[in-house]
Amino acid sequence: MSPEDTIAAIATPPGNGGIGILRLSGPDALAIGEAISASRIEPGKIQFRRFYDAAGEVIDHGLCLYFQKPRSFSGEDSVELQAHGGAIVLDMLLERLCELGARLARAGEFSERAFLNGRIDLTQAEAIADLIESGSRAATRAAMRSLEGRFSELVHRLVAEVIDLRVYVEAALDFAEEEIDYLEDSSIGERLESCLSHLRDLLQQAEQGQTLQEGLSVTLAGLPNAGKSSLLNYLAGYEAAIVTDIEGTTRDVLREHISLKGVPLRINDTAGLREAQNPVEQEGIRRAWDVIGKADVVLYLVDADKGCSEADRSIIETLEGDNLQLVYNKADLLGDDAVKDKNGIYLSALTGQGMENLIERITGKISDYNLDNQAFMARRRHVDALRRASESIRQAVKTFETTRSGELMAEDLRAAQNNLNEITGEFTSDDLLGKIFSTFCIGK
Ligand code: GDP
Repeated sequence: MSPEDTIAAIATPPGNGGIGILRLSGPDALAIGEAISASRIEPGKIQFRRFYDAAGEVIDHGLCLYFQKPRSFSGEDSVELQAHGGAIVLDMLLERLCELGARLARAGEFSERAFLNGRIDLTQAEAIADLIESGSRAATRAAMRSLEGRFSELVHRLVAEVIDLRVYVEAALDFAEEEIDYLEDSSIGERLESCLSHLRDLLQQAEQGQTLQEGLSVTLAGLPNAGKSSLLNYLAGYEAAIVTDIEGTTRDVLREHISLKGVPLRINDTAGLREAQNPVEQEGIRRAWDVIGKADVVLYLVDADKGCSEADRSIIETLEGDNLQLVYNKADLLGDDAVKDKNGIYLSALTGQGMENLIERITGKISDYNLDNQAFMARRRHVDALRRASESIRQAVKTFETTRSGELMAEDLRAAQNNLNEITGEFTSDDLLGKIFSTFCIGK
């Protein structure tokens, strides 16, 4: 499938820069490129050209590159003009390209065409956007691995496994008389189990990939004045939150995106947890519990100088879980002989002492992963699709263990295959495609 029209866009960011790039893609890309430069353009060569307006006056000069289809990013004939990076110059050039027959590209339309022409699959297209927007080195590396096709390859392997199973089960349906025996004799049960276990592995990796894409969410909780806002400011590296010694200052949830040792984090500072009379503070506390419930890591701050109070203890009890870390703040006020809680990290948001332990603890959760060459970028929709696929295979395992109905198993396997194909885009609705590509940059 190849659209009839030719699209154009400025591919470099808005504003002024040394160089600005315009892109053309579609059946008339070459003709328009030759018209604006009033010359022939050869494929695979870097050519210096002048770019003219309708009156024949030179708008700018620069380099011209022609990528002949299908060996271009979009899979269509494409031309790139590298001009000077002035906002007005680039606008004038884009206007001229449109006068010559191009139309302005929508966000993500070059990538969408690359997808529709089979140059990249959907996970790779998404990886391009994730690469451009990645907020940390770990995320950048993982996005590049997805773009190189690592995630797609693992999905394809699973699809092949499911297809093999389908062929087997559907063959059994053709011998309806002996269906049960046929399935019984075979190793189908083991193969279903092994497929399920591969799916679970991939789901786990994709969940980590999603964390890299969205950032690990770290929520700061504690009584008023424990130093939550001070810690947020320390980690953010600037005064993001108001710090006072007046209790109940933080009302709303404050969010900061930062990167620690290459790991992307979304840090939430919350209202101090106490019995509040003021309705605004009450609402802040309700919101605090809400984000605490959704956090990947909860840092519960205790004022080390005051020690762990009754009120602290009762909150800690309700928070207890893998994602809870006790942090004793204001350690600068402690004497050398202070008795310490061995489950806690001692630090000072004021002086920065002990901070490396905290950073180690938070990033340790995914920094191994950061170094892991297998890691790839994934999105929530991939994780959802993998969960649905696992559910279908689990259902097929259950059927095998109970009724052994070939028909039901065939149906579950078909559903699993469709779920997996949604990830790479072989089975998707136009709505979903529209939603995905509309979040891309213009010119990409
Ligand atoms: P929050 O209510 O938990 O957000 O606490 P704040 O960050 O607003 O801090 C409350 C008070 O404790 C402020 O006066 C801070 O300056 C002080 N404070 C915060 N962290 C430290 C620390 O590590 N050491 C000392 N000595 N004071 C701190």
